[in-house]
Amino acid sequence: MINEPGTAGEQAVRPRVAVSACLLGEPVRYNGGHSRDRFLTDVLGPYVDWVPVCPEMEAGLGTPRETLRQERSEEGPRLVTRTTRMDLTGRMTGLAARRAAELDVDGYVFKAKSPTCGIHGVPVYRPDGAPAERRSKGLFSGIVMERHPLLPVEDEGRLHDPLLRESFVERVFAHARLRALVEGDWRPRDLISFHARHKMQLLAHDPVLYREAGRVVAAAGARPREEVAARYTETFRRTLATKAATGKNVNVLQHCLGMLDLDPVRRADVVDVIDAYQAGLVPLSVPTTLLRHHARGEAAAYVRDQTYFSPYPDALRLRHHVPR
Ligand code: SF4
Repeated sequence: MINEPGTAGEQAVRPRVAVSACLLGEPVRYNGGHSRDRFLTDVLGPYVDWVPVCPEMEAGLGTPRETLRQERSEEGPRLVTRTTRMDLTGRMTGLAARRAAELDVDGYVFKAKSPTCGIHGVPVYRPDGAPAERRSKGLFSGIVMERHPLLPVEDEGRLHDPLLRESFVERVFAHARLRALVEGDWRPRDLISFHARHKMQLLAHDPVLYREAGRVVAAAGARPREEVAARYTETFRRTLATKAATGKNVNVLQHCLGMLDLDPVRRADVVDVIDAYQAGLVPLSVPTTLLRHHARGEAAAYVRDQTYFSPYPDALRLRHHVPR
């Protein structure tokens, strides 16, 4: 049996994830249709609580409606209707600011390429309709991302990439576990335990920031709770926002191996598998599964309980790609 990470409380954590409503199959697109994404609805959906948002519907545009586009202007891109040329920039900017201020989620999945919701490569046009340039973000999504720079954010197109998908889901579940802790009646010892269980996961992202987070934990008993929670949350999120590269994963795997009491033959087997992962021959799930298998008994509990080995529900099977 494969264990879920952390305490019983953590096992029950379900991330809250905001999502462009059309991606869940809601008929909110300009033509009354949707853009249902099956990974989101069928694979990830059973493990998260969605917070669907359709900014164009919330802005009162209804369905069916005229399509929108971003147009270049001296003050920056404007959001305008294509035919009647109604300027919705102010309305959408105000809505985005209000929504961003009240947003309390562990991640956000936006609809790719939308002038309102896109996060990359949204086209910008000249007033005469000719393409002007590629802009990076939609009007609504850009304001949300600016307000929440450490929030895990992706679009459904980028989530087809297995590496980006794994990274996004890992961060979302980690954010949710920490939110569950700091929203509860936590004590410094709870934060120490949380940080200890996340040690390998954080080291795989950024060893320097891991130590910075450790200094916040060490001072937890001497500082106000709110200040500690805010500082730890910010450092934890910054750590996870740093890419977990193959070399850092290899260091973590070797670190875990060093803490296990294995006979020479089994140890050599694990070393071979770590080498194969480093060479790009097997996915990360192979050495992590083998190490977890060997982490039996009380002495190995510290390794076994690391969130690194189960950063999200195992059934999502997201570590089955080879490094590149
Ligand atoms: S892309 Fe955004 S604004 Fe457009 S239908 Fe989907 S949720 Fe609504």
